[in-house]
Amino acid sequence: MAEVIKTKVLIIGSGPAGYSAGVYASRAMLEPILIQGIEPGGQLTTTTEVENWPGDTEVQGPELMLRMEAHAKAMGCQIVHDMVTSLELSKRPFIATCDSGLSYEADAVILATGARAKWLGLDSEEYFKGFGVSACATCDGFFYREQEIVVVGGGNTAVEEALFLTNFASKVTLIHRRNELRAEKILQERLLNHPKIEPLWFNELKEVIGTDNPKGVEAVRVENVKTGKITEIPCKGVFIAIGHSPASELVIEQLDTHNGGYVKVQAGSTRTSIDGIFAAGDLTDHIYRQAITSAGMGCMAALDAEKFLAEQE
Ligand code: FAD
Ligand code: NAP
Repeated sequence: MAEVIKTKVLIIGSGPAGYSAGVYASRAMLEPILIQGIEPGGQLTTTTEVENWPGDTEVQGPELMLRMEAHAKAMGCQIVHDMVTSLELSKRPFIATCDSGLSYEADAVILATGARAKWLGLDSEEYFKGFGVSACATCDGFFYREQEIVVVGGGNTAVEEALFLTNFASKVTLIHRRNELRAEKILQERLLNHPKIEPLWFNELKEVIGTDNPKGVEAVRVENVKTGKITEIPCKGVFIAIGHSPASELVIEQLDTHNGGYVKVQAGSTRTSIDGIFAAGDLTDHIYRQAITSAGMGCMAALDAEKFLAEQE
């Protein structure tokens, strides 16, 4: 029979919410176990400069996440590189089964599985994924030295990705369906003043065009949402940056969710619809979605779990 490991608190996810929960739960002597998932460090490992983490005027996302991991470990949190594939929440103790075959029996669970990049859902986008189509500029920007690139989206991610890609690309076209950006004003200013970036307003990407052998992107076809005019833009790289969806598939059938799958928590707490299950970070938050708010909720979740376990005793 597969091994079952018992723990008072199981933390699922290794972004700012998970690691902060790890620090607080360790300091509460709960001896937590944290399962990192396939993206150790979470979304911030896919970016470069972070300029709004208090205490650091500028810090690289991956470096910040390594520091958080080291901090949680130093406090006594056991960190496991594995992925939870199923979670049984119908009775306590809760059971999490991992990709490795190991199972964890937990008196309380802190869900901090964050969010994942959204895609447009086009067949051609799917076909060229990994062959010119990407959702991570820091991971793939390097491949497009002196090439033309397009970025789709109008939020902080799209603008940051477009700015970052100017380090490599000869030209970056930002394709946005409106003529207003959601991104912070400071980022908008940088984008609009950048000589290598050209915004293309009121346009939607309709098709990625490329070659089969070798597989690669040659252009995108876009449609003007006001006039219906179709234009082809030559490019070698296509970066989709249209937001993120909550990674709630483990619990979507078991917990109350809202706003398209975000786990519902009680006002002012991280308690979910099942006693003993707490949720923190982007998984629960369709509004703020920041590292600092996620870390704050991770702290709250550990304190809520501590209180819950004390009540059980
Ligand atoms: P995430 O960071 O999303 O981490 C989720 C974790 O859950 C991952 O470790 C993943 O491996 C794990 N996981 C998922 N499923 C499972 C599973 N089944 N089993 C085990 N583990 C699992 N915010 C800022 O404040 N400042 C910025 O400058 C900034 N820049 C950003 C740049 C980019 C490109 C992006 C995409 C986001 C940026 N953000 C920024 C937003 C910020 O990254 C998120 O708000 C924050 O990372 C959310 O933290 P989290 O802990 O909730 O989840
Ligand atoms: P976002 O703020 O939700 O923006 C998504 C963008 O994509 C919007 O401009 C939206 O257009 C567009 N879009 C969505 N679906 C689309 C579709 N099907 N076709 C075309 N365009 C589409 O997402 P985000 O930029 O990834 O940011 C997510 C969160 O992370 C935010 O809270 C953000 O503040 C945070 N973040 C922060 C930083 C930072 O602090 N520096 C950096 C990155 C991310 P509309 O505007 O028309 O809706």
